[in-house]
Amino acid sequence: MEYIIKILEIESLSENIKKIKTEKPKNYNFVSGQHALVSINKLELKYKKRPFSISSSDKDDFLEFIIKIYAEGKITQQFNNLKKGDALIIGEPKGKISYNGKGVFIAGGTGINPFISIIKYLNKSEMKKNFLIYLNKTQKEIILESELKKLFDNNAIFILSREKKVGYGYGHIDKNFLKKNINNFNQNFYLCGPFKMIRELKQTLIELGAKQEKIISEI
Ligand SMILES: Cc1cc2nc3c(=O)[nH]c(=O)nc-3n(C[C@H](O)[C@H](O)[C@H](O)COP(=O)(O)OP(=O)(O)OC[C@H]3O[C@@H](n4cnc5c(N)ncnc54)[C@H](O)[C@@H]3O)c2cc1C
Repeated sequence: MEYIIKILEIESLSENIKKIKTEKPKNYNFVSGQHALVSINKLELKYKKRPFSISSSDKDDFLEFIIKIYAEGKITQQFNNLKKGDALIIGEPKGKISYNGKGVFIAGGTGINPFISIIKYLNKSEMKKNFLIYLNKTQKEIILESELKKLFDNNAIFILSREKKVGYGYGHIDKNFLKKNINNFNQNFYLCGPFKMIRELKQTLIELGAKQEKIISEI
């Protein structure tokens, strides 16, 4: 089933990140953490679907998507031209990410989006039990940095791979980093980001004692 939904609001979160708020179809039931195939409701674009995580909470009466516009992105460049009142086409929600209890969230870039939905759905005291590790190339690319710091009660590490900055980690996450920053591997791990990063992280977490069934990701 597909739904045509009107855009209610577009906000630029940074130079190349847009937050798009849309109508929510009646009876559109998703679980915070899921994504859907989305296209633009224009003749030449409606079959060009891409998966996007839903970043609003399943309790909201609207939908929200946070979309990174790539300079060479065939489809995201088109999202850059959208305005209030234009329409999107959205498929049924899908995906394996959902909240299973306290744990460590590890995200890369727009991989934070399903977690934003989960965070919005959790109450404050549950939220504070969780820990976030968020990787980006530069500080400018971090999505909703101050909100995330507040929501995680500063229980968050931000890592930059292409910029050295006071207050931020630098480089990539490896075994040593995980050992140093996580003292219990028998807990939930929520992973979302580039497939290569997730595949490698999953392997490393298992080597450190994490349980396969407690690693929640799309892979
Ligand atoms: C389950 C799932 C959920 C997703 N959720 C979101 C989301 O919430 N928000 C969001 O913005 N995107 C999300 N994506 C990615 C999205 O679906 C598109 O693949 C992406 O936006 C690129 O689309 P495009 O057609 O514009 O780029 P394409 O035309 O496919 O790519 C053109 C160029 O853009 C650059 N590029 C494209 N994708 C990436 C990337 N992932 N990392 C680095 N460079 C890249 C490369 O330079 C590439 O050569 C998700 C993907 C999956 C699989």
